[in-house]
Amino acid sequence: MKGILNQIKEFIYESANIIEPVKCIICGEDIIGRYTIDSWNQAAHESHKIAFCFSCGRIIVKNSIILSDGRQLCEFCQPSIVQTTKQIEWVDKKVREILAKVGIDNIPKNVPIEIVDSYQLMKIQGNKEIDVNQRGLAICNKITGNGLTKTEHKVCILDHLPKIAFAGILAHELLHVWQNSKGITPPNDICEGFCDLGSYAVYSVINNPSALHFIEQLDKSDNPVYGDGYRKVKQYLDQNGWQALIAKIKNW
Ligand SMILES: [Zn+2]
Ligand SMILES: [Zn+2]
Ligand SMILES: [Zn+2]
Repeated sequence: MKGILNQIKEFIYESANIIEPVKCIICGEDIIGRYTIDSWNQAAHESHKIAFCFSCGRIIVKNSIILSDGRQLCEFCQPSIVQTTKQIEWVDKKVREILAKVGIDNIPKNVPIEIVDSYQLMKIQGNKEIDVNQRGLAICNKITGNGLTKTEHKVCILDHLPKIAFAGILAHELLHVWQNSKGITPPNDICEGFCDLGSYAVYSVINNPSALHFIEQLDKSDNPVYGDGYRKVKQYLDQNGWQALIAKIKNW
């Protein structure tokens, strides 16, 4: 699962054309000239050293958590970080309830969920460099012994994710688990797009500004696999509903 991309936009601001001056989120001063705006419409002078929250995309103002892989988490996101077993189990239960409501009620039970950092994710995937946009991973191991093949599933989720983002990513990975467990193998873009619809289903139920922001990020993603795949599968969902989509994904 890929995370949101930083929305770095720049506008030329002609002070004479705008009645309300734009205020800088970092220094509080009016902005004359070029500025950077985040996906929450927060503006900051271009001259500041600007960092974005890796989870919500907000411009970092102060008191961010800075992680060793360069990610920063903003003050807004910090209170709801998912880290304890109890928190993970609670989110897992809620996400599974939402997926069951749309008709995906046969995801393998008791799939272990492990919180990992970017370096662990990199190692698990056999990569040489960390991918700061990687948020999670579903692992499927087929173990053969005594003539029997057993399938073991596991989900890894990136550390320091706030609850809503965590829930969206978990939904994505659980839909990989579901596809893997059923031997469903659509083309990669459809596979990822379908998993992102799991995130969409969760965000739709949560339906607060953060969740709606994540839906907007899914809609706008310019990733040729994730974004394009999501839009294809979402269009099918909008026209035909979940039941038809779940049938369709098996033979896409
Ligand atoms: Zn995925
Ligand atoms: Zn400023
Ligand atoms: Zn944030």
